[in-house]
Amino acid sequence: MTGTADGFHRLYGAAPEGVWAAPGRVNLIGEHTDYNDGFALPFALPHRTEVAVARRPDRTLRLHSADVPSGVVTLPLDRLHPGRPPEGPESWAAYPAAVAWALLDAGRPVGGADLHIRSDVPTGAGLSSSAALEVATALALTDLYGIPLTRPELAALARRAENAYVGVPCGVMDQMASACATEGHALHLDTRTLERLHIPFDCAAAGLRLLVIDTRVKHALGDGAYARRLASCHGAAAALGLPALRDLPYEDLEPALARIEDPVRRRRVRHVVTENERVVRVEELLRAGRLRETGPLLTEGHASLREDYEVSCPELDLAVATANAAGAYGARMTGGGFGGSALALIDADAKAAVTLAVTQAFGAAGFEPPRVMAAAPAAGAERIL
Ligand code: ADP
Ligand code: MG
Repeated sequence: MTGTADGFHRLYGAAPEGVWAAPGRVNLIGEHTDYNDGFALPFALPHRTEVAVARRPDRTLRLHSADVPSGVVTLPLDRLHPGRPPEGPESWAAYPAAVAWALLDAGRPVGGADLHIRSDVPTGAGLSSSAALEVATALALTDLYGIPLTRPELAALARRAENAYVGVPCGVMDQMASACATEGHALHLDTRTLERLHIPFDCAAAGLRLLVIDTRVKHALGDGAYARRLASCHGAAAALGLPALRDLPYEDLEPALARIEDPVRRRRVRHVVTENERVVRVEELLRAGRLRETGPLLTEGHASLREDYEVSCPELDLAVATANAAGAYGARMTGGGFGGSALALIDADAKAAVTLAVTQAFGAAGFEPPRVMAAAPAAGAERIL
């Protein structure tokens, strides 16, 4: 993608001081673990959000996105207040505003700025366009205002912006993936310590491909359901006397489950603990170069999200089942669920066949046609101009 700097120039009548980019992400495995202090294994998409920025001498933020029809949104820096943003065409501006607010709230000396944003990350598709926007904005503002933050600090700040200002109770995985991923690698992430390991993940060299199947649906029940899952997990950890479900070892799962009376809560705990274990096993297989063998673990993870965590939906289930029936090594929903995207691990030459099979199955089920893209692990956030 080019032209973000040009777009800035046309809009504001002067060149930007720089352009920063941050990618969307796909989570290979480790879903709904990041608010349980657990593990995840995301990688960065080649799709990314670019933000062209220039500082201003006053304390005004001017925000513009080429991807929404709202025009320029002008906000006084010192009157930003957390809370759920209003519905309407300007609601998107809460994400970059949130980052400026979080910097100020942390005592960081950020000043006014003009921003122009352009992205090819699909929005609302479970591929983290929100984190891409936050991380690109945070990197730009901290660079321009000389605020020294490490990448994990930057990710944590972006997460706090989304939690406290936008009002979305997300974990830190999305922001960490966007801020810290590296090309050709999956990012093994410990969401408690923010320790990370870059695990080589070269599908092409293994004759494989990862397909991302965007179902193009986002079911409205997702928001409340997410908060209930989070409460259920935190309640279960407290009842078991643990700081977080991450502290329940896989080996101790069965006796712990026997102590939980509520069958729904039992299933939630089983998902989180088995999912953490799947992250460890997938990582071991990647390290051993046994990429194909990760497939069954991906599919097992999907079953766990469908049956135990109950965050899948008919479109995601159909995408996974059809991809597997068409020869995928494994497939699963990725992201929070209730719509969004699935991923499938396939042979490099199987893209057309799997895409056709999924598209036909969606048509036969009366669903909108999905958008299918190949995704190779790409670079994390960086300054590009
Ligand atoms: P996801 O992160 O999975 O894409 P979210 O609902 O968390 O979905 O975030 C999507 C929201 O983020 C959009 O509705 C919009 O408000 C904001 N957003 C993301 N990318 C852009 C962009 N390029 N321009 C304007 N707003 C964006
Ligand atoms: Mg998001």
